[in-house]
Amino acid sequence: MRQLYIGGAWTASASGETIDVVNPATEETIDRVPAGSPDDVEAAVRAARAAFPSWSATAAGERGKLLAAAAELLTARAPEIARTIATDMGAPLGFSLKVQTLMPAGVLSHYAQLAESYPREERVGTSLVVKESVGVVAAITPWNYPLHQIICKTGPALAAGCTVVLKPSEVAPLAAYALAEIFHEVGLPAGVFNLVSGRGPVVGEAMATHPEVDLVSFTGSTAAGRRVASLAAETVKRVALELGGKSANVILPDADLPTAVKAGVANCFINSGQTCSAWSRMLVHRDQYDDAVRLAVEAARKYTVGDPFDEASRLGPLVSATQRDRVVHYINRGQEEGARLVLGGTESPHERGYYVEPTIFAAVTPGMTIEQEEIFGPVLSIIPYLSEDEAVQIADDTRYGLAGAVWAGTEERAVAVARRLRTGQVAINGGSFNPQAPFGGYKQSGVGRELGEYGLDEFLEVKSLQL
Ligand code: NAD
Repeated sequence: MRQLYIGGAWTASASGETIDVVNPATEETIDRVPAGSPDDVEAAVRAARAAFPSWSATAAGERGKLLAAAAELLTARAPEIARTIATDMGAPLGFSLKVQTLMPAGVLSHYAQLAESYPREERVGTSLVVKESVGVVAAITPWNYPLHQIICKTGPALAAGCTVVLKPSEVAPLAAYALAEIFHEVGLPAGVFNLVSGRGPVVGEAMATHPEVDLVSFTGSTAAGRRVASLAAETVKRVALELGGKSANVILPDADLPTAVKAGVANCFINSGQTCSAWSRMLVHRDQYDDAVRLAVEAARKYTVGDPFDEASRLGPLVSATQRDRVVHYINRGQEEGARLVLGGTESPHERGYYVEPTIFAAVTPGMTIEQEEIFGPVLSIIPYLSEDEAVQIADDTRYGLAGAVWAGTEERAVAVARRLRTGQVAINGGSFNPQAPFGGYKQSGVGRELGEYGLDEFLEVKSLQL
């Protein structure tokens, strides 16, 4: 029976209740985690508060050493953790290893270095400006990159000298348990990191309202983020939000169309489309539209959907029955609203497991539900435009602004269009994801930035000393 990790010890939940963890490929229950209670949150926040004075006063180099040891252990345990993520979340094993596990290990290692190297003071005229640890951090994370999202918060928080109470997603919580074991093994002092698994409205809300929590760092849906921010406002906490997206892949007429379409399909379907920054809308000039649709269908046909442990699978199942139903609902909606289904659909390719075929809609027009709302599944909408201005206008015309891409004949032209977009990250002619560059959203995609030095700043308060 799994237990919560509070104050440096494995502890039974006060609730005595559990949550089933289900393998989305087999639909079988594979584990159970405690359904934490507000009393558990109380104990964890108290432990984090008690640990804060000495952890924040610990030499940055010492903190960095502990984080480096944790990153090493995470790397050593990566094959096993990748299997865990493939099992509770459904990502294909190779992807689970490389992206879901080794990438966050690299991010943690980078924060181990930044703990010491990041300057914590500067002179501004006659003042000395110092950056201090924010305090107790409540971290609430989703299931789609279950370890990465945790590291994006825990790495910089611990490097900054904050203490942490983590509530991982109840849907794919097992990687968080492995991380707690690692922090314990490397000797992180008691109370510096605490794990309370459980449901959002119970554990997450208790964390967001707790007066001894100084900052809530939330990643998840815009609806839940809005709720967390409003609860946190009661005690005027700092709030960092990493929310949903509906990102546009803008392909300009002078771009290399086959390359742009192929990369666009790959980006949309990565992690079975369960990626907040997925380029789920492909914008193509009217003159190239039919070619783009044909190329996209050709590329998407190569995406074998199946068992995450089968090497031939490029896409695994969706994470849960709920998520599968949500995606199927959107596919039906797209057809009802007149978009043209050119690949995939609502039929599952397997009898068991929460699978959805790679799906492509053509003739998608601005304002359709599938063009506006985050689907979070392998569903691509291809939208025609007539001018660069119209492409920018369509790209920006959603409530989100998390990521996107621009493809053009020259980097200069792509950069010029990217500068016009109201979004947090833009890939230029296929530029790859950089885990040291700031990541976060404009508009309702969020508040604040994660990763790299910008991500560390989220966990630092600023004090001016007038000399
Ligand atoms: P979700 O909002 O349902 O849950 C995220 C986390 O919030 C979970 O731990 C959940 O238990 C908790 N939660 C839910 N309701 C809560 C409440 N009332 N109070 C406090 N906590 C609550 O999201 P999900 O389904 O786990 O993840 C998918 C969503 O996450 C998508 O919208 C996706 O775009 C977003 N996401 C964003 C980023 C980013 O960096 N911007 C990254 C990954 C995922």
